[in-house]
Amino acid sequence: MTHSFPNDTMSSTTNTSGAPSTATRPVVLTCAQPTGRLHLGNYLGAVINWGRMQDDYECYFGVVDQHAITLPKVPTELRRNTYTCLAQYIAAGIDPERSHIFVQSHVIGHTELAWVLGCLCPLGQLERMTQFKDKAHKQEFVYSGLLYYPVLMAADILLYNAHVVPVGEDQKQHLELARDLAEKFNRTFSPTFNVPEAFIGKTGARIMSLQNPASKMSKSDPNTNATIYLTDTPDVVRRKILSSVTDSGSEVRVGEDKPGITNLLAIMSAVTEREMGALEEEFAGKGYGVFKAVVADAVIARLDPVRLRYEELIQDTAHLDAVFKAGADAAQKTAWKTLAKVHRKVGFVERAR
Ligand code: AMP
Repeated sequence: MTHSFPNDTMSSTTNTSGAPSTATRPVVLTCAQPTGRLHLGNYLGAVINWGRMQDDYECYFGVVDQHAITLPKVPTELRRNTYTCLAQYIAAGIDPERSHIFVQSHVIGHTELAWVLGCLCPLGQLERMTQFKDKAHKQEFVYSGLLYYPVLMAADILLYNAHVVPVGEDQKQHLELARDLAEKFNRTFSPTFNVPEAFIGKTGARIMSLQNPASKMSKSDPNTNATIYLTDTPDVVRRKILSSVTDSGSEVRVGEDKPGITNLLAIMSAVTEREMGALEEEFAGKGYGVFKAVVADAVIARLDPVRLRYEELIQDTAHLDAVFKAGADAAQKTAWKTLAKVHRKVGFVERAR
């Protein structure tokens, strides 16, 4: 159930259900929760790939605020983070001219389709979801929205009849549920949905913490020096890289005994798009200090235009609103078509216009 980059196995007219394909290019749906600042791991591990997909796929990009409220949120922060999210993704290469960028709650259809799919989804399957169990375990009160999250995610995907969905390890089980629900709907009624596949990016680098390279770089790391944010100024980026933990010895090479240097090599390789082997050769005998300074320069050269563009965009709420409106208008057209088809198939009376 995986699909590799670039689009090498799926033609524009085939799909796995036999349902008619409406797009001229295969459809990809990418969703991001409005959680605030993006870090270097998000950028190199995910966002760069999403940007590249815009050449080969019809891209729907949802800022999923309805998912966000499955755990308690401060309303003013959620609203601010929705704009921050959009401005960061545009600055990082998601292009509103080439992708339909929308806010989930602006498009009628996500929750409506989730309701229909929920009526085909066994309760036990939701209760067994690993992410539900992990998140529920940490909550004093567990609300049903959290349990229902994977059904809403299935609806996000099926509403646009997505062929592929870029998913991290933690979302694979949810994609399986979306596939199950698509197949079940197709079987129960008639072929309607593509059965979506996981998208595996070509160069999705896994970036580790700068202070503890055994764990992933993460926004929830309490050590602020461990994570580089896209909004960090050049001085801050440089300080974080120069003070990153290194390993014993002084040789710049990849190795299990060198997790810190291996991580810096992976970062350098991702930002410069050069092979790790070539970098090892270039820095042979030069020592950690010289290497770190060059890595800092390379990361700054890559991130600073993103930061500057973000700062421009976040000042211009009217422009961001216009992007959201255009994206929601385009997404809504597809959503209406899917909803009408689904409602007809399950037996709802068509609403008179
Ligand atoms: P998250 O911030 O955990 O919701 O992740 C958003 C996207 O960034 C997902 O596709 C993750 O797989 C990716 N991602 C998050 N952290 C890293 C990391 N340290 N290295 C590579 N990719 C990451």
